Amino acid sequence: MREVNGKHIVVLGAARSGIAAAKLLKRKGAIVFVSEKTSQADKRIEAQILKDEKIEFEFGGHSEKIYQSDLAVLSPGIPSSTEEILQFQRIGIPLFSELEIASWFCTANLIAVTGSNGKTTTTTLLGALLQTRWPDAVVAGNIGIPLSQQVDQSLPDTWGVVEVSSFQLEFIDSFHPKIVILLNLSPNHLDRYEDYKAYTHAKLGILKNISAMDYVIGNRDDPLIYEAVKRAGARKYYFSSTDGAAQAGLSQDNLILNGIKLISLEKIALKGIHNYMNCMAAVLAAEIAGISRDTMKEILSGFSGVEHRLEKAGCVNEITFINDSKSTTVESLRVALMSFKQPIHLIAGGRDKGGDFSELAGLIKEKVSSIQIIGEARNKIIKSWQTVLDNSSISMPATLDEAVHAAYGQANAGDIVLFSPACASFDMFRNYEERGKTFKALVNALKEENEKKNK
Ligand code: ADP
Repeated sequence: MREVNGKHIVVLGAARSGIAAAKLLKRKGAIVFVSEKTSQADKRIEAQILKDEKIEFEFGGHSEKIYQSDLAVLSPGIPSSTEEILQFQRIGIPLFSELEIASWFCTANLIAVTGSNGKTTTTTLLGALLQTRWPDAVVAGNIGIPLSQQVDQSLPDTWGVVEVSSFQLEFIDSFHPKIVILLNLSPNHLDRYEDYKAYTHAKLGILKNISAMDYVIGNRDDPLIYEAVKRAGARKYYFSSTDGAAQAGLSQDNLILNGIKLISLEKIALKGIHNYMNCMAAVLAAEIAGISRDTMKEILSGFSGVEHRLEKAGCVNEITFINDSKSTTVESLRVALMSFKQPIHLIAGGRDKGGDFSELAGLIKEKVSSIQIIGEARNKIIKSWQTVLDNSSISMPATLDEAVHAAYGQANAGDIVLFSPACASFDMFRNYEERGKTFKALVNALKEENEKKNK
């Protein structure tokens, strides 16, 4: 644990993790100052919390006071190229992420989950496994509950799990998980990183403090991860969909764990190879943490996933609607398309994150019967795909409502309407949750319309 008592600490950004960090540091005796760019009018709730906690703050911009600090905590939303960050570096004030400072006070053994896709699914699944043994086990991080909010409940000799984003990793120092899970790496956040190399470098920063007594669990099928795990000075475990030598693998429709069948794939509630990979990573870590195989089987057969990830949104006239609003990358759309055997009517689009949609052209041709493209990235997506579909099956509706109706109009009984945007949501919605909820509400409305018609 690091001593923060009496230290002057500035927290930059008053969103969820900034507020949680400020509260934690105050409890530990620091003199905390929160500074937020957005105006107080737009951050009323946060301002009230800080007032109640008697934490000093400023909204509507960062004043010179932020530089009168012993150290600074950064919210993940703030890019490292921001002038304030550069100035901290020039003056020599140490900068840390919320994850780093929270880890100073965490007494449980931590399992850190990172990768481009599947973090929340794997973290939540692993959390469910750990909580069968330790009901208060930490399940935190990027899943929406900052680690700072949970560290006080952490206990020595127990295990917790934390989802880690590349942004949090940019400013770690002594953060030291006992197990690191590396799920996969594919281009993401290229709007924020200089290039793919910079992004993967940030992700692999999670291995910074790993030592020989720790564990690294990596995706054997991902060449970059394989290389990184090979180099790591820790105990190494692999999961793979193809390599029989990996400690967790798939064979004859079964999930194999350390050479012994754990469960048949048919009994696992999550579906799709990508999800089996998430499951293998989770059970490898759970086995190290001492979770029994019976518990693993029970949890794997009951855990059907997290909202907005290939979630069944409803069925109208035998057409199944899937809400995959959390799909914000080309890779997540790829695995979504791979997860269905039925003809797919795709709704995609939103704000471009710099991915290459043309990589999916072949798969689109093979799997997709019609496409509705919405949002700012429409022209880029259409250019990437129009050669593989005839123009009549690609349309550009103005709203999600129109897209849902149009996709339904194209589909036959037994087909899938898949909403997997492969883009960020911010051009049309507050966030992906609002986007997914809107989609589900539209599916419900369609269902009601249809029921009325059939009466
Ligand atoms: P993350 O937290 O990394 O964004 P999520 O579990 O929230 O991951 O899933 C985000 C999207 O990625 C969803 O569309 C989901 O279906 C897809 N996904 C989940 N696991 C994987 C995986 N292992 N590989 C590729 N895509 C995945």
